[in-house]
Amino acid sequence: MARKKPIAYEVDEKGCWICTSHTADTCGYPKIFNSGKRIHVSRYIYEQKNGSIPANMVVRHKCDNRMCINPDHLEIGSQYENVHDMITRGRQRFSQVGERNPKAKLSENDVAKIQKLLASGERQVDIARKYGVTRYCVYSIARCRIWKQRKIEAQK
Ligand SMILES: [Zn+2]
Repeated sequence: MARKKPIAYEVDEKGCWICTSHTADTCGYPKIFNSGKRIHVSRYIYEQKNGSIPANMVVRHKCDNRMCINPDHLEIGSQYENVHDMITRGRQRFSQVGERNPKAKLSENDVAKIQKLLASGERQVDIARKYGVTRYCVYSIARCRIWKQRKIEAQK
């Protein structure tokens, strides 16, 4: 059995622990092998400190830095809350594209409309163009199944 690679990090000026030992996945989160599974380093750190995370819950970054593994910056929440945060906080990944409005953010109303377009079979790339957001954003909305069941207002 391969030994677990030690986790190393550097503290930045905001107090974030930037993971330097493990590379990020395509979503920008560093990953680690744990019990034969690749999981987010942030999840691993959280569990080391707070115990296991309930099913359907994800580790969220209060600091919005996906490379951060400072346990004080981590909290758990639903996947729904995670995506909701990404949109309301207007993370970079969500506002890279969009010629008309380079800093486009989606309102909750927009998200509801995008849900409808997705349900009607509209292509994600077309929706992204229409709303001036990245495909990743539309993809996240598409992937967030809980959104179909819950109203966004429930978060307020
Ligand atoms: Zn942080």
